[in-house]
Parts: sequence; structure tokens; C-alpha cells
Amino acid sequence: MMTITPDSAESKRMADQIRTTEEPGFWTDWRWHLNHTIRDIPTVERLLGIRFDEQERAAMEETILKFPMSVTPYYLSLIKPEEYRHDPIFLQAVPQPQELIVEAHDHCDPLSEDLDSPVPCITHRYPDRVLFVVSATCAMYCRHCTRKRKVGDTDAVPIKDEILQGIEYIRKHPEIRDVLLSGGDPFMLPDDFLDWILGEIRAIPHVEIIRIGTRVPVVLPYRVTDDLVRMLKKYHPLWINVQFNHPREITSVAARALARLADAGIPLGNQSVLLAGVNDCPWIMKRLVQRLVMNRVRPYYLYQCDLSEGLSHFRTPVAKGIEIMENLIGHTSGFAVPTYVIDAPGGGGKIPVMPTYMISCSVHKVVLRNYEGVISTYEEPAAYDRITCDGNCRDCRLQLPDLDIDETRLVGIARLLADYDDTISLVPEDTERMERRSD
Ligand SMILES: *Cc1c(COP(=O)(O)O)cnc(C)c1O
Ligand code: SF4
Repeated sequence: MMTITPDSAESKRMADQIRTTEEPGFWTDWRWHLNHTIRDIPTVERLLGIRFDEQERAAMEETILKFPMSVTPYYLSLIKPEEYRHDPIFLQAVPQPQELIVEAHDHCDPLSEDLDSPVPCITHRYPDRVLFVVSATCAMYCRHCTRKRKVGDTDAVPIKDEILQGIEYIRKHPEIRDVLLSGGDPFMLPDDFLDWILGEIRAIPHVEIIRIGTRVPVVLPYRVTDDLVRMLKKYHPLWINVQFNHPREITSVAARALARLADAGIPLGNQSVLLAGVNDCPWIMKRLVQRLVMNRVRPYYLYQCDLSEGLSHFRTPVAKGIEIMENLIGHTSGFAVPTYVIDAPGGGGKIPVMPTYMISCSVHKVVLRNYEGVISTYEEPAAYDRITCDGNCRDCRLQLPDLDIDETRLVGIARLLADYDDTISLVPEDTERMERRSD
């Protein structure tokens, strides 16, 4: 007979609290966790053995009415009750009254994902890839979720018909070579349904890679079963991005889930969100990225917190992110360093931001500084046989014989830089100056 094998003293304590008439082995059964997600404040108090004061509890309950709560027993068990107010797990899982603060610049769709949405489940923002929202639910509702307005909203559950429309859109657009399944959490779908979606997408010849964004390895690692992994393996090249925000989330159970995915040949990336009071510290971040690479997860992005409604208490100045990057670049392994990005409001997409390393330059030399403060020069080449590109790859000496550049596809600064494009400036349409011209 199986016995419960909670991961730690805390989860054992929590399992003991929850156990009533449960079957042995329930704690490692992901379905059990989903059937027992914690959705009300009194249960949080009971399981953690804490008591909020009356006012605080009333405010939390009001918050839940606007942005529902759902926490897996596993994730709740990672909270240290003695210091819950500053606990990084608690802060990501349990609602704070500050979520009801709406600041003037907060948006319910700060990234304008809905505007760039040609069919209901697809956001097509970048030239060669799409975001495909295939699930509206999550194992846990993160308090810092940028899609707070959608998660937990049962009306927003994508139905098979909408998913079919999404697949059809991808099929009709040969420029899409990368499909990113997201949500909600795609791993909330039953294995056979996800299997079907992946099969449909894989059958589209122009789709080169499929990616899945999931927080399951963090909040419900037991969901990463052998069956799930066996199914995923059929769809290589398949990449997975997870979201660990604090080193305490990398438990031995989470590590096992990551190992299963990595052993299946799935490259793993991590997208952290910079959160005030949770991980806004260079040392926390350094520990996190180092633990991630030990688990074969490559830190991919560090996100500046979005301007979504209900997130203002999580926002840090951009300067905090720069300070963190300054403490990572050069100080630790290059592949442990994520790219720090701001997802620009209004649909501008992800914009990388970095400390400045190039200090100055002349025609002959570039002056750079390193992480230690060493200032060095790099000598530019005395002679450079510059290639002037006419967009005709077949006759070019650089040997990319099967490509002809389609000029109409040139976008943005790359277009200004291209030798064979006459565009000399990018000008906003709605300036007064432009209006005078059209008069
Ligand atoms: C983040 C994102 C992607 C993927 O961007 P990468 O930089 O390639 O990871 C695609 N579409 C949308 C709408 C996104 O927000
Ligand atoms: S897992 Fe992602 S989509 Fe789901 S609640 Fe958390 S941040 Fe939002």
C-alpha cells in the first residue's frame, strides 16, 4: 500500500491538517490537489494556523470577489506561517487588500493583447510567432497575474470551436513558425485534449517549433506525470517555459518535475516576474538563477511588472531591475543571466533593457566597461570589406542560396538599416506637422 510522501516537514503538517478520510497517496495525486484548491480566507487561516484581524480579513474577502483566489495545497504548504506577512509564497498566492487600488495608469489589458487578436484565442503581435491561449484556468491564480481579468473567469474558457479557429488561423498563415501555447495554463487541460491540440499544430508544415508556457512545475509539480511527459515527447521540437520567482519554490518535488521534462529532451526556460517584496533583491535573483541552471532550466526573461489593475503594490522602479542585471552580468555564468524586459503598454511588446556597457567610441576604437569597473578599448578593424546587400541572396557570396528577401517584410529599425530599402525615417502619423502636410 502507498503511503503519503509529503516533500517537507511543512507539507507533511499540511497533509495532516487536510487528511480526513482521504485515500493513502493523495498528497502526490495532482487531481486531489485540484479538487482541494483553497478558495476562501478561513481555510487559509485554518491550514496555516494563523488569524488575520477582522479588518484585514474583510478586505481580503472583498478582494476575492473581484479577483478570485485559488491555491493548491502543495503551494500553500510551502508558506512558513511564522513569518507569513513577508513570505514570498504567501504574497504570490493570498490576496492583499492593495489589489483593489486602481491607479490612473492601470489597465485591464495593459498589453493590448485583445487588439492584436485576429481570432479569439490568438494574439499575433510578432512577425513569425503567435500566442495561443488554449486554457483559461490555472492550478493557482497568481496574485501578480497580468491576465488577472481573464484567469478564473469561467465565461472565458476557450471552447473547442475557438481552439479550432486558432488552429485554422495558424494553418492559413505560413509566416507563423513558432506557436506559443499559453493561458491560463495549458497543463490544466486533460492529456488527451492537449495531445489533440499539439497533434493538430504539429501537422502544420510551416510550424517549426511549439512552446508551452506553464506554472505547473512551480505550483502543482505532481501534474508532470510520466504519461504527460511521454505524450509531450511526441511533438519535438517542443520547448517549455516555466515561472519560478523565488528560490524557495525550487523544492525537491519541483526539481523532480523539471528533471522529468529535461530528461524527455525538452529545453526548459524560466520567465520570472520582478515583484516588490518577493524577489526585488540581487542576491535572491542570483540564488534563483543559479538554482535554475542546476536544474537544467535556462533563465530566459526577467519581466518588469505590468500595469495591470491590482498589481500596483508589486511594481518596482525599473532601476531595481537594472541593479539586479548589474549584479548578474559578469558575476555569474552567462547562461544563468536572463534578459530583462518591459512589456510595453499598448502592444509594443517586450523591450529589453540593460545597464550600459559601451561608454564611448571613435572611428578607431570603442570604449567599454566591464562588471568590475575595468574600462577597456576595442580596436575597430583597419579595413573592412563591407557587403552592400541588394536582397538578392542567390548571388551573394555569403551563401544563403535558398532565400530571397521579401522587402515588404522589413520592419522598424531593421528597415532603416537595410541597404536595399529607401526608407529614411519612421515618423508618427499623428503629429501636427504631418497633419499640415496633408492639408
Ligand atoms: C511574449 C510573447 C511572444 C513570444 O515572445 P518571445 O520574445 O519570442 O519569447 C509572442 N507573442 C506575444 C503576444 C507575446 O507576448
Ligand atoms: S500561472 Fe500564469 S496565467 Fe496563471 S495565474 Fe499564474 S501568472 Fe496568471
